[in-house]
Amino acid sequence: MTTTYGFDTLQIHAGARPDPATGARQTPIYQSTAFVFRDADHAAALFNLQEVGYIYSRLTNPTVSVLQERIATLEGGAGAVCCSSGHAAQLLALFPLMAPGRNVVASTRLYGGTVQQFSNTIRKFGWSAKFVDFDDEAALAAAIDDDTRAIFCESIANPGGYITDLDAVAKIAEAAGVPLVVDNTSATPWLCRPIEHGATLVIHSTTKYLTGNGTVTGGAVVDSGRFDWSASGKFPALSEPEPAYHGLKFHETFGPLAYTFYGIAIGLRDLGMTMNPQAAHYTLMGIETLSLRMERHVANAVKVATWLEKNPRVESVTYAGLKSSPYFNRIERICPRGAGALFTFAIKGGYEACVKLVNSVELFSHVANLGDARSLIIHPASTTHRQLSEEAQEKAGAGPKIIRLSIGIEDADDLIADLDQALAKATA
Ligand SMILES: *Cc1c(COP(=O)(O)O)cnc(C)c1O
Repeated sequence: MTTTYGFDTLQIHAGARPDPATGARQTPIYQSTAFVFRDADHAAALFNLQEVGYIYSRLTNPTVSVLQERIATLEGGAGAVCCSSGHAAQLLALFPLMAPGRNVVASTRLYGGTVQQFSNTIRKFGWSAKFVDFDDEAALAAAIDDDTRAIFCESIANPGGYITDLDAVAKIAEAAGVPLVVDNTSATPWLCRPIEHGATLVIHSTTKYLTGNGTVTGGAVVDSGRFDWSASGKFPALSEPEPAYHGLKFHETFGPLAYTFYGIAIGLRDLGMTMNPQAAHYTLMGIETLSLRMERHVANAVKVATWLEKNPRVESVTYAGLKSSPYFNRIERICPRGAGALFTFAIKGGYEACVKLVNSVELFSHVANLGDARSLIIHPASTTHRQLSEEAQEKAGAGPKIIRLSIGIEDADDLIADLDQALAKATA
């Protein structure tokens, strides 16, 4: 599909065409594990990666393929691999790059689950992570060593209020010859297109805004197709002969699609963290209205954050869309359509008042999720961050008096009224 179409057109059409067998206008859910080979030669060509097609749904599935092409197109990438969750996408993104003894340099401002995955679980593969403040460019450059194989950050960082200077980070990554991986979950490609700022790879938890209705978990890894995997000798999985495919060299053979092919042919084949066609269907449905929803998410977030900032019961609000935010001046360059819809605020009355607040809301749902059409609320210190010391909670922007909101697409006035009555009860 021509990529000169606008975003609103591509979010509905990219990757899809009427079903060749039936003319079905909507993308069918190809609920089939396996696909019949035309003959033995066709099967051999598919298994040798000489022809692209469908073998078995752990690797590729026609419904999932449409979603992959759609997300790649919206991000301006060469290709994408979908998988079973956002956390699976993080592992799948690092897998072609890493090896025992190698490290990823990651921002301190990340989704809590990502900090956990990078601090502890990846060590079982012999990988490690070094966390640094990505606003400290000297510290970031100094943290990169000969074993660093990726730099990882979020565009608009969870739990909100922080926008990464992707241009500055990409420059440091390029100078070091290391790919920059950007988690674009909170922003979506409608608010931010990390590849245009120099990102090599973009990952998503499609569970959130891309699906947008809180129905399925999913993930995606998008490759820009711009990184030279053979230049430094640091990425042998992509540049050297692959024993599992008769010595095929992915970069030499597939060029800008090398990383995507590797993610499917080795990553999904052997790690098995595959997206199922039902999940791809729900996410395709969601993406059709992405720009409309994000526009409303942002407009509502600005209204709610502005109201909260003026509220005498509230101590502070972190939303980058407020002029008071230290990151307000990055919006125009990094995410010109707005700072997303996820932010935190501190209430007078501390921990007890926060617990009362989440117990008193009626319209907001008290859940550990974000990016739903409905507005969501959580008190991190009593839930997602309760295992941490108070000092560690403060560092993560999740201290005892902090509430996180994911603003939905309801009427903003109703959201404000709900917070108003709940705040009155919480601080009475
Ligand atoms: C939710 C989330 C993840 C993890 O995604 P899952 O689909 O829950 O596995 C990763 N990064 C960010 C920014 C998220 O919000």
